[in-house]
Amino acid sequence: VVDKTFFINVIKDLKDMVEENRDYLSKLDSDIGDGDHGINMSIGFRGVIAKIEELQEEDISNICRKVGMILLGKIGGASGPLYGSFFMKLGVPVKGKEKIHFYDFYEMLKAGIEAIENRGKAVVGDKTMVDALRPALDEFTQAIEENKEPLEAFHIFVEASRKGAQTTIPLVAKKGRAMRLGERAIGHIDPGAVSATLILETIENNLI
Ligand code: ADP
Ligand code: MG
Ligand code: MG
Repeated sequence: VVDKTFFINVIKDLKDMVEENRDYLSKLDSDIGDGDHGINMSIGFRGVIAKIEELQEEDISNICRKVGMILLGKIGGASGPLYGSFFMKLGVPVKGKEKIHFYDFYEMLKAGIEAIENRGKAVVGDKTMVDALRPALDEFTQAIEENKEPLEAFHIFVEASRKGAQTTIPLVAKKGRAMRLGERAIGHIDPGAVSATLILETIENNLI
């Protein structure tokens, strides 16, 4: 069971994670995109942290919704609307709740990941963050159905995302800027699949 403090801590850690990985993510994006993915994420989360006092006054569902709105407003490019939708939908399954049980948390992440899919219309194999998130969600669902311990289930989720991100390396992109590169995208990991995995890792670090 987690409360509001957990989500505020996750947000602060996401900001630090993004700062630490800013140049790395932009470097990955410079291989197959326009080199701004780390900068975009950094601008987004700096915007979130600038509003942290206000966010702390809200309930969990509204914290998520507002983080999503800030990301949507601040981040230019493809990842803004995608991560914006993720956070906006994250809070929907827990409207009005103050204590979040593990199953609620699963429902939140499911809603967030489905929001990214609905927004971007990418499927597995398109060389996007969906290549990390969809298999991760599927393995998470399976772990939940098998009644795995929460921490173990979450670890399976993160591991599957890491593995999914790696599967983007040999792919040609079918969505986003990397599409324009055609076969030249082969051999490079998708930056959004990496940032998505880093986000899940940051959440996991707050659970343990
Ligand atoms: P931009 O490409 O506009 O410069 P970013 O560099 O911030 O935006 O983000 C690029 C990432 O966005 C890609 O690595 C990819 O994972 C993700 N992406 C792009 N288009 C889509 C889409 N339609 N669905 C899911 N993810 C996408
Ligand atoms: Mg870019
Ligand atoms: Mg860009």
